[in-house]
Amino acid sequence: MLNVQDLTVHYKISKKVIHAVENVSFKVEDGEFVGIVGESGSGKSTLAHTIIRLLPINAIVVDGRIELLGYDVLSLGEEDMRKIRWKEFSMVFQKSLNALSPVHKVGNQLADAMKAHNPNLTEEEIIDRLKQLLRMVNLPERVLKAYPHQLSGGMMQRIMIALALLNHPKFIIFDEATTALDVVTQGQIIEEIKSLVKSLSLTGLVISHDLGVVSELCDEIVVMYAGRLVEHGTTEQILQQPLHPYTQGLVRSLPDFARERRLFGIPGNLPDLSESIHRCVFAPRCPIANEECFTTVPSTEEVDGRRVACLKVGARV
Ligand code: ATP
Ligand code: MG
Repeated sequence: MLNVQDLTVHYKISKKVIHAVENVSFKVEDGEFVGIVGESGSGKSTLAHTIIRLLPINAIVVDGRIELLGYDVLSLGEEDMRKIRWKEFSMVFQKSLNALSPVHKVGNQLADAMKAHNPNLTEEEIIDRLKQLLRMVNLPERVLKAYPHQLSGGMMQRIMIALALLNHPKFIIFDEATTALDVVTQGQIIEEIKSLVKSLSLTGLVISHDLGVVSELCDEIVVMYAGRLVEHGTTEQILQQPLHPYTQGLVRSLPDFARERRLFGIPGNLPDLSESIHRCVFAPRCPIANEECFTTVPSTEEVDGRRVACLKVGARV
């Protein structure tokens, strides 16, 4: 369904180049959900925006290939892209809470979005489909008559999910779809997403800085750090036996683990992404790094059925 190969994406700002995504490869098979996890600034949204080809103009796809649903995404013309985006694949955006216009009723905005893609539908068909969509995301019909500011954060996020599902996509990306919500609402929406992706046989990506959220929803997890893929395995492998020291830190900072230990953080910050880095990107924060880690770029190796980029792979923190 999705095959990302050796993807490298940079941003240009004045004279600097930000290395946002460096040499990332992974696949998503039909019916599968893969999680992308990593702290703020690790390149998760850049990766997603490249896949659906909605990058800002200062972004440069330096290298790589993306195949999505059989399309060679990076070489499709904009016109062809526009025909398939939102229909065959779609995305729930990280900053979607202000995506709707504040001065129009929610129902009218959803109906307009539906008309734009399905000009042949009658008014009744549109209303029927909207009601069906609302039921799918557990919203009462009255939200159609409401203005965006009258809805709670959880309701708005459900509207955004409905909007992404409007044209029956096969592939969907959730980018921090529950992050801005309180814990209870977050839990409810995760459960709803779970049953939706099952009943609609969706395939896709779930992006979050929260390993807990990603592991609830995904079969496999890609761990990113400073634009690099540092580990990729099944959810069970990542949670039960993380190999990369960064993944080990993420797992130890999960609330379930923290209850027994002291709340665990990973000291330090992401490196400056405007410099090219010729060492392990995680070395300055890594508790087990040695001299070699500061002079050699680790390649991604297959270890115990998963992929990991660490020179001291398997070593326990
Ligand atoms: P978050 O968890 O905060 O959403 P993220 O993992 O999604 O983070 P990105 O938004 O992909 O990370 O950002 C990756 C890097 O690229 C960061 O250093 C960010 O500052 C930079 N970046 C993102 N968008 C732009 C842009 N339009 N112009 C320049 N740099 C950008
Ligand atoms: Mg992001």
